[in-house]
Amino acid sequence: MKTTSIFLLTVVPFFLFLLTSAPYAVWKADRQQQDPPGFCMGQPRVAEPLLPTPTAEQRLYQGPLHLRVYLHIIRNENGEGGLTPDQIAESLGILEKDFRPFDIFFELEEEIFYIDEQTLFEDANGTAAVFNNNPHEDGIDIYLFPDHPGHSTAGGGMVYTIPAAAFYIVGRCIEDPKLIYRRTSAISHEMGHCLGLFHTHHAMEQGGCEELVNRNNCIECGDFVCDTPADPGLFLEVDGASCTWSGHALDSQGQEMQPDLHNIMSYTHPRCMTHFSEGQGARMRYYITHHPMLKKCLITHQISKK
Ligand SMILES: [Zn+2]
Repeated sequence: MKTTSIFLLTVVPFFLFLLTSAPYAVWKADRQQQDPPGFCMGQPRVAEPLLPTPTAEQRLYQGPLHLRVYLHIIRNENGEGGLTPDQIAESLGILEKDFRPFDIFFELEEEIFYIDEQTLFEDANGTAAVFNNNPHEDGIDIYLFPDHPGHSTAGGGMVYTIPAAAFYIVGRCIEDPKLIYRRTSAISHEMGHCLGLFHTHHAMEQGGCEELVNRNNCIECGDFVCDTPADPGLFLEVDGASCTWSGHALDSQGQEMQPDLHNIMSYTHPRCMTHFSEGQGARMRYYITHHPMLKKCLITHQISKK
């Protein structure tokens, strides 16, 4: 009896583990077939040059970085139904909170651009065509669609490239709790793409390669950031109430992946997004100061010499 109990306690869980933990190649093929849910629309292409992971020397702190930001609000054809100043301030407050730890700040241009188009107003998923409205070269264009709380389809966000100088965000999460995306760190996720960050599960995407759990290949694979653990792709399967994940995946060396369920650049539930890693912060700062598209958006404050 005792032997049987020991057998059940040790051997059975081992086989259950084998059954539930898929090697990465199997996991990837399976998920890609299912067209798993996420909230970023489309596959952004890489905007050349793709900069390398910054070296320790390049990561040296060089003071606060201020980026110019232009806001575009989509309203109906009568100029109604757009986000209110309080709603806009709420979304900008989330950006400020998430980027402040890395001394990255956004300075909003005073003039707000309104796009009064009924078709865009009613679009629950948004469209890349919105980026043709008043784009700027010297700042990041943020396009905010109405919240559409009544729509049954999921919303999301989009950047056209990584990095980028424009993104939009629309609608709400389809998984409970069905939060409005612009009221969560999903807005920081899109800004993170603009500043050179890939998904932590970039291995699943076009041009991506598998990052090992031991991080030996973290510079050239995964999200190219070494302090973010290998992520097989969470695809909104993280429970929005408890922020727990029931999935299991092994890397090609048989190591169990333990993705960061709170990383803003993952596909965790938006409610569970709390932070960027130090490495992601360093990569964004490097991109802002070295990528030609983003350097143009940087505000250099004149320091008066007395
Ligand atoms: Zn994304």
